Amino acid sequence: MIAIGVPAEGKDEPRIGLSPETVKKLVKAGAKVTVRSGAGLRSHFSDRDYSDAGAQIAKTDAEAVSGADVVFTVRRPPLSIAKAMKKGAALIGMLDPFSDAEGLDALAKTGVALFAMELMPRITRAQSMDVLSSQSNLAGYKAVVDAAAAFERALPLMMTAAGTVPAARVFIMGVGVAGLQAIATARRLGAIVTATDVRPAVKEQVASLGAKFIAVEDEEFKQAETAGGYAKEMSADYKKKQAELVAEHVKNQDIVITTALIPGRPAPKLISKTMIESMRPGSIIVDLAAERGGNAELTKPGEVAEHKGVRIFGPLNLAGQVPVNASSLYARNLQAFIDPFIDKEKKTLAIDWDDELAKGTAIARDGAVVNAMVAERLGGKPAKANPKPASSARATTKSSAAKTAAKTSAKTPAKTTGVKRQPNPAAKPKGGKTP
Ligand code: NAD
Repeated sequence: MIAIGVPAEGKDEPRIGLSPETVKKLVKAGAKVTVRSGAGLRSHFSDRDYSDAGAQIAKTDAEAVSGADVVFTVRRPPLSIAKAMKKGAALIGMLDPFSDAEGLDALAKTGVALFAMELMPRITRAQSMDVLSSQSNLAGYKAVVDAAAAFERALPLMMTAAGTVPAARVFIMGVGVAGLQAIATARRLGAIVTATDVRPAVKEQVASLGAKFIAVEDEEFKQAETAGGYAKEMSADYKKKQAELVAEHVKNQDIVITTALIPGRPAPKLISKTMIESMRPGSIIVDLAAERGGNAELTKPGEVAEHKGVRIFGPLNLAGQVPVNASSLYARNLQAFIDPFIDKEKKTLAIDWDDELAKGTAIARDGAVVNAMVAERLGGKPAKANPKPASSARATTKSSAAKTAAKTSAKTPAKTTGVKRQPNPAAKPKGGKTP
């Protein structure tokens, strides 16, 4: 029988690697699941919920993982967890493969097989396992809700007997998974929404969500998408023209949500100090790229900066602030990933190491690093290099995120009430850094 263990996360991480719902499915598939007592509490999953779903409850992390063939985590766990695991067992989570190389090396040397879910190839078959998408989608939503809560005005147009309240203007920079959900959420709240991106493919998606696309649409822009579907670094000339256009636009915006990223690079700086100074006092910027340095010049990762009445939020784990949904979706991603590797007849773990998804996400096996990009950062060669970094593999269904945002948008009527929770942008989870 395949044994699955779930330890508790660190104190700054509210999410958990398995939900009661996924425990039920795994138990049905023949697994024995052991969850550390209290590990789900910050996602409002009690020990009782887990035991009702068929899990065993362990008193300590060591007890939860020591007999496991597979251990599920959200973040890269401390070395003690890997040391408590059986040699050859699999540790699966967002292992933050490009930071703290020494820590990762030590983890690899324990002999545990490491799988970094961030490296999941972006191909159709792996969509249900894409943790970056499931978490970014929630982060895009939460960024707008937090901005709306902090903004001391209303978002929708209101025509009342006492006069008219104008609609707020929301500008989304970077229209990937998070940006699309941010557009959909801001539209639901009744704001006038504009968005920009350097990839021409998103223009239509922006329009389909009821927002206006703003960009310098020259020849370079028309070619600006990599074969992988990600953004390219733009030329200095393009950046200058785009910055001028953005500067003109930003000064009339109330809320700016920035999500712009280029894989493997620091976040592009899109909002200068001068642009921030051109905004009205009371305006809000939520910088979702804070983890990689931020898209705004004055962003302080993990903090709220204020400059001339404009507040700049630099949250580090927004998905973690919607932990119930974030854990539920994340757990489904993990379950979808492990399911094909469970031998349904023998009820044992049968990882197909030649499978594209196992190859793409495996970073260490038998005590050695096996991912070329990770090995390079560790200053060596991989024991058995994966042919291509999986993160550059490409989606065949580009507009899937647009469809998600549109679907949820269509189901939810525009409402302006009910946003009660105050943002907690100062929450500072550890790890989660990307290259
Ligand atoms: P990301 O987090 O890498 O970047 C966010 C956005 O920032 C991107 O749209 C990018 O083009 C944009 N950007 C970068 N530099 C910019 C600049 N200077 N100005 C403005 N915008 C800039 O993106 P992501 O959320 O990972 O999504 C990337 C693509 O992958 C999207 O097309 C998404 O729909 C697609 N995707 C496909 C799958 C799948 O098929 N399995 C899964 C997830 C995402």
